Amino acid sequence: MKAIVFYQHGGPEVLQAAELPTPHPGPGEVQVRVHACAMNHLDLWVRRGIPALRLEMPHIPGSDVAGVVTEVGPEVSGVQVGDRVVVNATLSCGECEFCLRGEDNRCRRGAILGEHVRGGYAEYVVVPARNVLKLPEGFPYEEAAAASLVFLTAWHMLITRGGLRPGEDVLIVGAGGGVNTAALQIAKLAGARVVVVASNPEKAERVRALGADHVIDRSQEPDWSRAVWQWTGRRGVDVVVDNVGQATWMKSIRCLRPGGRLLVVGATSGPNPEDFDIRYVFSRQISILGSTMGTRDDFRTVMGLVFAGRLRPVIDRVLPFTEEGVREGHRLLESGAVFGKIVFRMDEGR
Ligand code: ZN
Repeated sequence: MKAIVFYQHGGPEVLQAAELPTPHPGPGEVQVRVHACAMNHLDLWVRRGIPALRLEMPHIPGSDVAGVVTEVGPEVSGVQVGDRVVVNATLSCGECEFCLRGEDNRCRRGAILGEHVRGGYAEYVVVPARNVLKLPEGFPYEEAAAASLVFLTAWHMLITRGGLRPGEDVLIVGAGGGVNTAALQIAKLAGARVVVVASNPEKAERVRALGADHVIDRSQEPDWSRAVWQWTGRRGVDVVVDNVGQATWMKSIRCLRPGGRLLVVGATSGPNPEDFDIRYVFSRQISILGSTMGTRDDFRTVMGLVFAGRLRPVIDRVLPFTEEGVREGHRLLESGAVFGKIVFRMDEGR
C-alpha cells in the first residue's frame, strides 16, 4: 500500500512516499481503507521526535481517520465490510483496571493511533473493531476525520474532566487550533459564556462567527489578562482552556476566579513556564486539570452531536494525499497560519 512515512525525525522534508506491506486484521480488529485523514499538532511533535517515544521505523503518522471497512478479523461482531466509519484514535487494552472503570484513555497499555503505532497517512490502517463508529449515510469523510480527535479531546477536557456547567464563564487562550475551535462550540452548547484570546484580527473575526461572546485580539490588546479581568467585572473566569503553555500559563492563572479551574491538554509553546507562582494555586484555591484524548463513551457522545450537526468541525483546507501535499500541511500547521483543521483527502481520482 501507499503511505507517507518518515525514516528519521526532522522537518517536513523527512516525510516521504513509500510502499509498505498492507496490514491485515487479527482477532478483534478491522482493516479500514482510509478516505480522509486530518492533521493534529501531535503529528508535528511525532515527526520532530518526542523524548522517550521510540518508534518502529518507518513510522506512519496520522491519528484522525475516516474510511470504509474493507476486511474484518476473527471474533468481531457489529462491524461489517463496507461500513463507513470514523476511528477513535485512543487505543486501549480493554482489560486493565482503568479500562474496566470506563477510563480507557488512562489504559496502562494504551496508545494513540499515529503516535505510538502506525497511523492514517496510508491507504489502509488496522484498528480494534471497538474503535470504529459508523457514519450516518452521506456524512462526509473529511468532516468525520476533522472532528474525531479534537472534539473527543475538547469534550473530555471541558465536560468530563472540567465539569463545565451552564452559566459559567470560559476563557479559551488561542483561536485557531482544532481543539480550541471545538472547545468554543462545546462550551457554547453547554450554556457557558465564552471569551477567546485571538492572535490577529482575522482569527478574531472567525471566532466571533463561531459564536464567541467576546474576543480579545492580542495584537491590539497585549495585556489580555487584564482585559479578561475587566470583562468579568473583576471577578475572573470559572474555567480557562490553555494549551499554549509556557508563553501564557501565568496570565491564564491570573484570569481565574477564586476556586477556578485551569484545563490543559497540551503546551504548544513549551512545557516550562518560568514565571509560574505556586502561591496563586493555593491562595486562590485553583484546580489544574490535565486531560488527554477521551473515553469511548465521550467519543460516542460527542460524535453523535457532530453527526446531528450541533457541533461542526472547522476545516481550514483539504490537501491531496501526496508527499508534497503532506509536507505542505506540516509547513502550514507549523507556521500557525491556519484556522481549524487540515485534512488529507486520500481517494482523489478513485
Ligand atoms: Zn487497559
